[in-house]
Amino acid sequence: MHPLLQHDKTHLPEILDQTQTIALEFLQSLPERTLSASRQSQHIHYGDDQLLPEGIGAKTALDDFWRHYANGITGSAGPRYFGFVTGGSTPAALAADWLVSTFDQVAQLSHDNITAELELATLSQLKTLLGLPAAMTGSFVSGATMANMVGVLLARQWLGHQRGVDVAQQGLAALGDICVFSASPHSSSVKALSMSGIGRNALTLIPTLQGSEAIDPAALEMALKEAGEAPVLVLASGGTVNTVAFDDMNALVALRQRYGFWLHVDAAFGGVAACSAQFSPLLSGWEQADSITVDAHKWLNVPYDSAIQFTRHLSLQREVFQNQSAYLDAATLLENDYLHLTPENSRRWRALPLWMALRAYGQQGMQEVVERNVALARQLGERLQNSTGFELLAPVRLNVVCFALSEGDAAARDAFLQRLDRAGVVRCTPTALAGRPGIRAALVNWQTQQQDIDRALSSLLACR
Ligand SMILES: *Cc1c(COP(=O)(O)O)cnc(C)c1O
Repeated sequence: MHPLLQHDKTHLPEILDQTQTIALEFLQSLPERTLSASRQSQHIHYGDDQLLPEGIGAKTALDDFWRHYANGITGSAGPRYFGFVTGGSTPAALAADWLVSTFDQVAQLSHDNITAELELATLSQLKTLLGLPAAMTGSFVSGATMANMVGVLLARQWLGHQRGVDVAQQGLAALGDICVFSASPHSSSVKALSMSGIGRNALTLIPTLQGSEAIDPAALEMALKEAGEAPVLVLASGGTVNTVAFDDMNALVALRQRYGFWLHVDAAFGGVAACSAQFSPLLSGWEQADSITVDAHKWLNVPYDSAIQFTRHLSLQREVFQNQSAYLDAATLLENDYLHLTPENSRRWRALPLWMALRAYGQQGMQEVVERNVALARQLGERLQNSTGFELLAPVRLNVVCFALSEGDAAARDAFLQRLDRAGVVRCTPTALAGRPGIRAALVNWQTQQQDIDRALSSLLACR
């Protein structure tokens, strides 16, 4: 063994202690840490892009790394980062995630170790938490983008089946064009259309209900009639990123009954609201979808990268993702042989952090985070609306505040966001709603509290 490897092997306890010291220093700094790293802090230290002929050992490598790059690491996992939709990590999820790397298990087969059964057990709890039927199956993937991709690939396979085509075997050309209907699809679903070979141009944007991002079911019905016999995929929103608008899932399910399309629901963060009886009606009917996306690294507050794709068409999933090979023992296809069910072969034991968090905090812990985030988002919205210089672009339906400067164009908005970033107290990101330049504040972090809203609001007002 190389002497440095041998050295590190014998000094592992010290290396892990040192790692914990860095981790604690970071976690304790999180509430006050910069929310957007300066350009300067993003430079690579002299020589750090050069391969060393002789290594320096883990201890020095860790020390050097932390000394040179700590300032380039932001507090995006902290309580006042409201940009995009970015969760943090609860203590239980973080602990489990460390252990996932430590254990480094083969998590692609059903019978090698505990990983597959624990993934099933995690999903079973998650279905209970979110009110999804036990009959739905699921698997962990890297994010909602990949969960949407799986949904789209299953749709493709199912639409082929309806017409006697096996797309997995024959290719998409054997099926021909697919019509994709959606009112406010997330950009990652459109990416999935590209990656799947369906093509971005297959998407037809359906009008929304007046003053909302939610789909107008009557307009969708007209499009369905027009599509005639063509294969149709409907991409529904279970919470849009701007205004957290929910498509009327029951109306979509009723239309599916009559027109026979594949219904995919992107509920990346909005789906988690179903853990609260206050908000679960927003998702009513989603349990009947053909495929569903839920992110774990957003509102469920596990570390990147983790999401779940659900479906009620397990056999189709095997057709799409089966990975036959003599050396992989593919003869025995079990429900949770994940290498036959997911885009990846080798995969991380992603279920463990969510499993640990659900054990640690239970249904009530998850519900408390969701309800607190929503209450604080509504309060922030109200206070912005009542202050001069800001207005809401939409009512705060759930956990996202979509607002704007009362005056000024996109350049004024961008200059405002730059001032806000320099102040570094709160992070918001730009958007546009109905052609108007806007600003989003998305609350999904388990640590966000009243004092964070007070501080965020003061900074927003000061930077006007
Ligand atoms: C964040 C998000 C996505 C993309 O998710 P990733 O986890 O970043 O891949 C897709 N859809 C919605 C509605 C989202 O909020």
